[in-house]
Amino acid sequence: MKRRAFIAGGLAAVVFVWPQSARAQAVPKAPLKVVASFSILADFVRNVGGDRVEVISLVGPDSDTHVYTPSPADGRRVAAAKLVVVNGLGLEGWLPRLVRASGGKANLVVATKGIVPLKSEAEGHDHGHGHDHDHGEGDDPHAWQSVANAKIYVANIRDALIAADAEGAEVYRRNADAYLAQLDALDREVREAVASIPPERRRVISSHEAFGYFAAAYGIAFMAPQGVSTDSEPSARDVAAIITQIRKDKIPAVFLENISDPRLVRRIAAETGVKIGGSLFSDSLSAKNGPVPTYIDLVRHNIKALTSTLTG
Ligand SMILES: [Zn+2]
Repeated sequence: MKRRAFIAGGLAAVVFVWPQSARAQAVPKAPLKVVASFSILADFVRNVGGDRVEVISLVGPDSDTHVYTPSPADGRRVAAAKLVVVNGLGLEGWLPRLVRASGGKANLVVATKGIVPLKSEAEGHDHGHGHDHDHGEGDDPHAWQSVANAKIYVANIRDALIAADAEGAEVYRRNADAYLAQLDALDREVREAVASIPPERRRVISSHEAFGYFAAAYGIAFMAPQGVSTDSEPSARDVAAIITQIRKDKIPAVFLENISDPRLVRRIAAETGVKIGGSLFSDSLSAKNGPVPTYIDLVRHNIKALTSTLTG
């Protein structure tokens, strides 16, 4: 609602200045309409596209992309967009149907193109649920949790924006270069932070398997009662296995996630006496005025939560 009001206000302002003089030349052309499936992708698009793009995220802040149900308004947004940026790797099982319903003409950009997917561990995968999914068998979609992968997302988005709006090529390249340099610095920050944690304490529990790429890139082991998607509840056996593992490996902390129901992790903490190390942002940013409005904020928040719990 707020966003609509803002857009309408912006249009009114343009209409107001237009008749003043022959400055049609100076009036920027309408921004490129981009739809991103979820908030982290929208942030990447904003960083590369700047003022030349108007980006909307279908899945809102602090929300779960795995189990999203698109609205009729989402169909209209996709139909109106020049580009639709998606994660792929089975994250957005609801997307093909939405694209079909919107007329099927959207120009889809798969931001993970070129990333070698991790496979989910077989153990956490068998939840005994009978329904079928659209996602690739066992691919872990959370590739953004490694900053090196985020750089591939950004390069793919840059190339797609250039293909859709060649006039902006130089702006997109310049913005992407500046942002990629920030991501390089961020990657170093994560490595330094992890190096400050004693090796034997680099083991934690989270709600679902969202940190496999983080674990592979930075060397903190994550275990979770729920698999790489949140579309099924963990079984009693999954939960029992995690509790056994926590006791056996003396895992120092469990973490909640911003998109997940906290009750299960709280129960595991209560049953094992392990401390809760706060919340990690796994699959979504916060609202603009929240603690994690951007991807860079997300990574910083998570390494701060991890180091303050695991070094203390
Ligand atoms: Zn997830």
